Amino acid sequence: MNFNSNFKNIAESYLFAEVADRAAKYSAAHPEKKVLKLGIGDVTLPLAPAVIAALHNAVDDMSRKETFKGYGPYEGYGFLRDGIKDYYARMGVHLNADEIFVSDGAKSDLGNILDIFSKDNTVLVPDPVYPVYVDTNVMAGRKIIYANATESNGFLPMPDYKIKADVIYICSPNNPTGAAYSVEQLKEWVKYAQENGAVILYDAAYESFITDSGLARSVYQVEGAENCAIEFCSFSKTAGFTGTRCGYTVIPRALKKDGYSANKLWFRRQATKFNGVPYIIQRGAAAVFTEEGQKQIKANLAVYQRNAAYIASCMDGLGIWYTGGKNSPYIWLKCPDGMGSWEFFDYLLNNAQVVGTPGAGFGDNGEGFFRLTAFGSEETTKEAVARINNLYKKG
Ligand code: PLP
Repeated sequence: MNFNSNFKNIAESYLFAEVADRAAKYSAAHPEKKVLKLGIGDVTLPLAPAVIAALHNAVDDMSRKETFKGYGPYEGYGFLRDGIKDYYARMGVHLNADEIFVSDGAKSDLGNILDIFSKDNTVLVPDPVYPVYVDTNVMAGRKIIYANATESNGFLPMPDYKIKADVIYICSPNNPTGAAYSVEQLKEWVKYAQENGAVILYDAAYESFITDSGLARSVYQVEGAENCAIEFCSFSKTAGFTGTRCGYTVIPRALKKDGYSANKLWFRRQATKFNGVPYIIQRGAAAVFTEEGQKQIKANLAVYQRNAAYIASCMDGLGIWYTGGKNSPYIWLKCPDGMGSWEFFDYLLNNAQVVGTPGAGFGDNGEGFFRLTAFGSEETTKEAVARINNLYKKG
């Protein structure tokens, strides 16, 4: 027996552990100081009342012989897929319900989708990036090349025709940079994918944070994307489902090559390795699309959006360069005074007792940058902003 030796090539995942460790050591040494955490990208507000009511009702369904559910469809219940379909239709994207696959979250599907692609594909991943895209490909032994996201391109790399890629990851609005592509910019990526016979794996986990009309909420807002793109989305950040677990993946029937249909391959893959998302959870997720549910999740999103605006206006006031803050729950700032990411982490922790995430943990191009999240409470965010303001205004 041999283990998968590709695991040796995965970078030790120490980022959040190291962040937690440094913050814990600081707190132990300074128990009188209150440390404010704007580091981890998890939500803090509870589920919407409409979701909770639907979850309770679904639990009751399971208690009665007439409404009890056993194994559900691999691809998700019709009531939820129809809800997702109608949600897309409201943004002008027309899908068939059989192009939507319900999952237990975007992370699983982003990793599992690789099952349907050949090992020989070259993968293009932006740097910096959500680490899952890199690690899942390294585990499978695939060749990865990077698209440089930098200050000069606003952390939104555009296609380079000198580079030949088969599988392209795009995350917009981006984690960690908060930068979001416009529909016009995505047209360029769709054109590149079509000309190179490539597929775009489009991660829309943060689409609900988009407020500017020219920015893309779905890759399918670009004509022709249905021939070359798969979209991953999640209820995690949209509706606070990080601990409840539900997401969905869109695979258009038009996505075909060499006699293969991506939609059919994925269905076959799921039917083999996945037995569906719990009925109770899918009922909760479906409630997100009711009129009441939409109103309630928007009220929660507004809290995070306001937090993001506080942090962004603090950066504006201090003249610190950043991306995100608008159309995203992340603020990706350039560390002041030429500091490195970890240097700034320690500086902010020691002098303002604010914890963020060092950009260097997301890729080489993240060095010198820093991520703050808007997912904290309004009170924590306001206090953190006041402390950062204070720190820099004093000089
Ligand atoms: N995609 C991105 C860009 C994320 O930042 C996250 C979570 O932080 C996910 C996907 C995972 O989402 P889920 O909770 O649906 O697995």
